[in-house]
Amino acid sequence: MKRLGCRNNDGKELVFDTNSLPSLPLEAACARLIESCAVENWWPSQSRFEVLVGAILVQNTRWTNVEKAIDRLRDHQYLDPVRLSRTQPADLQILIRSAGCQSVKARRLQSLANWVVDSGGLEALDALATLQLRVELLKVHGIGEETADAILCFGFARRVFIADQYARVWLTRMGLVAESETRNYSACRDLVEPALAASTICMQDLHAAIVIHGQSICRREPKCSKCILTAICPHGLVVGKHGACPDQTLVRKR
Ligand code: SF4
Repeated sequence: MKRLGCRNNDGKELVFDTNSLPSLPLEAACARLIESCAVENWWPSQSRFEVLVGAILVQNTRWTNVEKAIDRLRDHQYLDPVRLSRTQPADLQILIRSAGCQSVKARRLQSLANWVVDSGGLEALDALATLQLRVELLKVHGIGEETADAILCFGFARRVFIADQYARVWLTRMGLVAESETRNYSACRDLVEPALAASTICMQDLHAAIVIHGQSICRREPKCSKCILTAICPHGLVVGKHGACPDQTLVRKR
């Protein structure tokens, strides 16, 4: 039995019999999610370095704000590691203002550019094994686990799983990750990544599908009645039975 940590409208604690759940392997759940989403050109860019820059700029903001900043950087020919590393911070801050936190992000962008230049360029970095590249990325000022994995996945086309907030909430609601691990980025990534190592699942498509699903269906208050995964999702099944969102605990924590 799985305790869902909340009560229905009558105050009764919701408990789900996980034995009654049709088992669906992680890979099949991911494949079904990708099939359900029209993912096209999720991370548009004209160069690999532009992806790296976008990964910094998108921290704590929407992509639409990032696009404006990238357009301005492109207009000034700063989407180049050497030129970006030599830019005056004050000039950079003006160009990226639309992405917010411009002084912080300007410093991070220049650290990123310096790292690329000092490492011998993007081709030299691309020759590194994924684990080594992740270690090197995490040494760069302003790059944490999620940004590093976004860069690995979209900038260097490595098979890594981006265990962002949407992914962790989805995996927990699906019963694929223990609730105690919902906030643990690396635990979720390290669970999913090896499980999909031999699959044909495209990690870029999977990330895009999870974000689309998290924004449109598996939201703060999930629209389980409209979800294609309801029949195999513990939370979806409970909503179907009780007509209540079973996961107010998760909702409050987000
Ligand atoms: S059934 Fe509900 S909780 Fe489960 S994945 Fe779908 S929207 Fe999310």
